[in-house]
This record gives sequence, C-alpha cells and structure tokens, in this order.
Amino acid sequence: MSVKICAMCENKPIDPKFKPFCSKRCADLDLSKWLKGSYAIPGLPSDQADEVPDTPDPSDA
Ligand SMILES: [Zn+2]
Repeated sequence: MSVKICAMCENKPIDPKFKPFCSKRCADLDLSKWLKGSYAIPGLPSDQADEVPDTPDPSDA
C-alpha cells in the first residue's frame, strides 16, 4: 500500500484537509506558483529566447 505524498514538497504525507498537500503552507506555495505561472508559462526552457539582439550593430561598421 502506498501513502500519498504532498504534491508540493514531495516529502510529507497528504493531510486530507489540505489535499493534495501536506499543509496549508504547501497549498499556499502551490497557489503562488500558479500566480507566477500566469506571467510566464512554466515548463518551457525559454529564458534565453526573450530579448536577445543577435544582429550586429550596423553603426559600428
Ligand atoms: Zn508539503
């Protein structure tokens, strides 16, 4: 039989009150993660592809 583990810290068993988390703290952490996720889509390694000017400066020639 398997004990369900907190989806946030993946360290402690789930408390039914805060399912699927072990505590209110982990539930809050997950919530803030979601809020941040509304600014940037998580899971995409696109940190570097944002504003990288890769064209050479024409005024230098
Ligand atoms: Zn937890």
